[in-house]
Amino acid sequence: MTTLTSHSMCAIQQLEHNLSEIAQRFRQPRLASSLAAEDMVLTDAIARLHLPIAIFTLDTGRLHNETYEHLAKTEAHYAIRITTAHAKASELQAQVRAFGINGFYDSLEARKACCRVRKVEPLARALTGADAWITGLRRMQSETRAELLYESTDQTHGCQKFNPLLEWTELQIWAYLSHFKVPVHPLQLRGYRSLGCQPCTRAIGDDEPLRAGRWWWESPEHKECGLHIAPQEKTHASH
Ligand code: SF4
Repeated sequence: MTTLTSHSMCAIQQLEHNLSEIAQRFRQPRLASSLAAEDMVLTDAIARLHLPIAIFTLDTGRLHNETYEHLAKTEAHYAIRITTAHAKASELQAQVRAFGINGFYDSLEARKACCRVRKVEPLARALTGADAWITGLRRMQSETRAELLYESTDQTHGCQKFNPLLEWTELQIWAYLSHFKVPVHPLQLRGYRSLGCQPCTRAIGDDEPLRAGRWWWESPEHKECGLHIAPQEKTHASH
């Protein structure tokens, strides 16, 4: 078991406090999990504290097989069910007909259309009825996430959005996973420092930016799929 620094222990206590507070404040809080390292920290904390926070993931239909195996392993480890959200068949057929099955390599328009059908719209359905959603986003992950807030009002989905790990470093994330013996996605041990769909994600070197392996053929300012829209309104400072 990894020994945690006092700084990491404080961060974990703060995380547990924040998640407990979210669970008390809201009737239908949900964690959107990609099953990557950050989301496994949140899943573990929610499970350890037995918090009534539902967990869902977006099954785009293009995930690595390792992701499905990790999903099943995580469910078994915590004795929980992680809800999967899927694209609507009619929308998927129209998108593939318009751009081709792998059209996302050909243009930004095609890539965003695919992300919209397979991720953005399923996310909206997964958040229907939720009054709060929690993500594992961190400020240090990319230039597009540098301005993240702890809490903001998500006008698009009509709920509050929380980023409880926004100040955490990658080292803190991995120290947590080791300390609490959390199941880790196997690809993250093989150079996939950010996880996404199989055709759009690759392993990267230690000296590359964290999200360099996502849509690597695009420029950095485009490296988002549309799930995380800039916050409209800050209501709480991060602790
Ligand atoms: Fe489609 Fe790639 Fe976006 Fe996945 S990441 S939804 S395969 S464009």
